[in-house]
Amino acid sequence: MKFQTKALHTGVEVDPITGASSVPIYQASTFHQEEFDSTQEFDYARSGNPTRKALEHIIAELEGANYGFAFASGMAAITGVLLTLSSGSHVVACEDIYGGSFRALTRVFSRLGIQTAFVDASDLDKIDSAIRPETKMLLLETPSNPTLKIIDLKGAAEIAKRKGVITVVDNTFMSPFLQRPHESGIDVVVHSGTKFLGGHSDVVAGLVTVRDEALAKEIYLIQNGFGGVLGPQDCWLLMRGIKTLPVRMTQSQQTAGVLANYLAAHPKIKKVYYPGLDEHPGGKIHLQQADGPGAVLSFELDDAEAVRRFVKDLQLPMFAVSLGGVESILSYPVKMSHAAMPEPERLIRGINGGLLRFSAGLESPEDLIEDIEQALKGI
Ligand SMILES: *Cc1c(COP(=O)(O)O)cnc(C)c1O
Repeated sequence: MKFQTKALHTGVEVDPITGASSVPIYQASTFHQEEFDSTQEFDYARSGNPTRKALEHIIAELEGANYGFAFASGMAAITGVLLTLSSGSHVVACEDIYGGSFRALTRVFSRLGIQTAFVDASDLDKIDSAIRPETKMLLLETPSNPTLKIIDLKGAAEIAKRKGVITVVDNTFMSPFLQRPHESGIDVVVHSGTKFLGGHSDVVAGLVTVRDEALAKEIYLIQNGFGGVLGPQDCWLLMRGIKTLPVRMTQSQQTAGVLANYLAAHPKIKKVYYPGLDEHPGGKIHLQQADGPGAVLSFELDDAEAVRRFVKDLQLPMFAVSLGGVESILSYPVKMSHAAMPEPERLIRGINGGLLRFSAGLESPEDLIEDIEQALKGI
């Protein structure tokens, strides 16, 4: 089946008891045990809930995995995966990782005896030389946030496999519609379901998928043991969002392409980062491992003052933290996603006061351009 069909028909879309057209929200914390010596599937909702199970099945299907796990947020999913490590383990992560992941690694996991080396993972040699005997995990994001750097997933997976390192990819920016890292040999895929998967800026959620059974058991131990599970209402919202993921992503990606070309040609724009532009570094590799450039782009104005005036005059996009909604979302990495990153670290990554990130929504691209055009006139 093609992805569009799978997003609607994974075998769990109809309620088996009533035939209802969506999975019921099982708003229950516990389950009556029919037998005194019960071995029934559901006993307590932290350990398992039928609504959550349906969502976990769907995300596993869409990522081409065997096991899915739903967490209370993207960060709960990412830290859940990191918690499978033990004290003394070493992590190699791409340097322009999501700000929240950077904070968790440098301020929380460092206290637990888990150190991280941040490397420019678009260079495979740098990954290779950062791996030490005690390195247990390689954490990657491609395209990265917010400068959309590309990492060769197959190459990274090969290096990691050779050295016995587990590979983890944060696939939030692409969604499984555009990129399925397991197909490139990646062990663990994580998502902030808050973004494209949910798609409507109305739910916070995280997902993890794996192919390997032993790894799945370790992640389940953390999901159940730490308890950062996704509630049934939010599982349902995510399943509802996923049904339209292919059409939303297709439309938003098309708009992002139009905007990237428009901005790249605009004299007031210093730089545009978008994997669909010919000059984007790693663009070729990206299109080998993904089905499209995505719906997120970043661009640079002269400085923070230009950004302030531009944002004040813009009418259409939400100016907000987040991405992947039906409405276009403009964010300011310096003060939002990367506020937790120290300034020197930010600047090395090109995240300066002039940089803005744009997540294309479903508005008419003409209206968006008109709005951007009038706001650019004022700077
Ligand atoms: C938003 C985001 C996260 C964190 O997800 P939450 O649902 O906000 O906890 C992680 N990675 C990326 C790439 C994100 O955009």
